[in-house]
Amino acid sequence: MSRRLHSPTTRLSAAPLSRSRRKALQWFALGCGCAMCGSVNARLLDFDLQAVEIASKTWAVLGRSEGFEQDNGGNIVNVAFIEAPDGVIVIDTGPSKRYGDALRQLIEKTIPGKPILRVYNTHHHPDHFLGNQSFDASVIAAPQKVIDNIALEGNDMTDNLYRLLGDWMRGTLPVAPTLSMDADKENVGGKQFSLYYLSGHTSSDFVIRDDDTGVVFSGDLAFLYRAPTTPHADIAVWHQSLDTLKNIDKSLLLPGHGPHDKKGEAIEQTKDYIDWLHGSISESVSQGLTMNEAMLLPIPKRFQGLGVVRDEYVRSVVHLYPSLEDELFPVIEINQ
Ligand SMILES: [Zn+2]
Repeated sequence: MSRRLHSPTTRLSAAPLSRSRRKALQWFALGCGCAMCGSVNARLLDFDLQAVEIASKTWAVLGRSEGFEQDNGGNIVNVAFIEAPDGVIVIDTGPSKRYGDALRQLIEKTIPGKPILRVYNTHHHPDHFLGNQSFDASVIAAPQKVIDNIALEGNDMTDNLYRLLGDWMRGTLPVAPTLSMDADKENVGGKQFSLYYLSGHTSSDFVIRDDDTGVVFSGDLAFLYRAPTTPHADIAVWHQSLDTLKNIDKSLLLPGHGPHDKKGEAIEQTKDYIDWLHGSISESVSQGLTMNEAMLLPIPKRFQGLGVVRDEYVRSVVHLYPSLEDELFPVIEINQ
């Protein structure tokens, strides 16, 4: 894919928006763009990443259950790294070059002197892959569809994060994986991984299982105590993928957002939420509510404790309403 320098000024173009750019703007619609709400961390532009050992020689770096804000610099995502006998495996790389550099430093501090042998990208959302630039591109792997999605939307999504996060993004370019994966198993550095090719949160969601520890890295197919995001969602397919995910033998699951899950809560919570979302928005369409009216509807009590639930619900109305309108009220051609 081509590389180009991004700057917030690229957003000032008066040219009509491309379809992919409109989609990217939908994805970020209602994210906090407040440039004035910086904390000490924001002013220092320091993520202060911490590694949490969630299983033997397996560390998670847990992001905040928030949206993209100046105050968090985009540190809202979970990434992970694993020590194998001969090197290190990384799962997702965060929202920016600055984050990727901080992640590399944290890995070197935690596991000194071992080479990074593999970086997996779970899907093409920018908080999961924009740290790729800090790693050797020749070891970054994902399904071909993820690579294609990054080629198609990576530039626009990067531009939008510049708009939302400003200086936190300085120097960040979208770097796609170079290794196209389709194997069911891969041995990396003396460790075996099972690989699953699912979809529904996006058109390609890559799930990785460490066969030694039984830890499953679900990417954004699963969220825990944080409202799921839906800019590229197909709810029916997502539901099926969650059933598949449930049947994968696991010791614990690291969701894309929220704490690591030892009790099997994340899959059920995500399924419950997306099913409610689909039902609620379908009902709104059937009743003839406008999108603005649908956005104001109450959120069930059982979801009110999820991080950023109102913001994500409103965004999901924007994402899902048009296709559900088409589905429930198809255009009828009248021949005259
Ligand atoms: Zn995602």
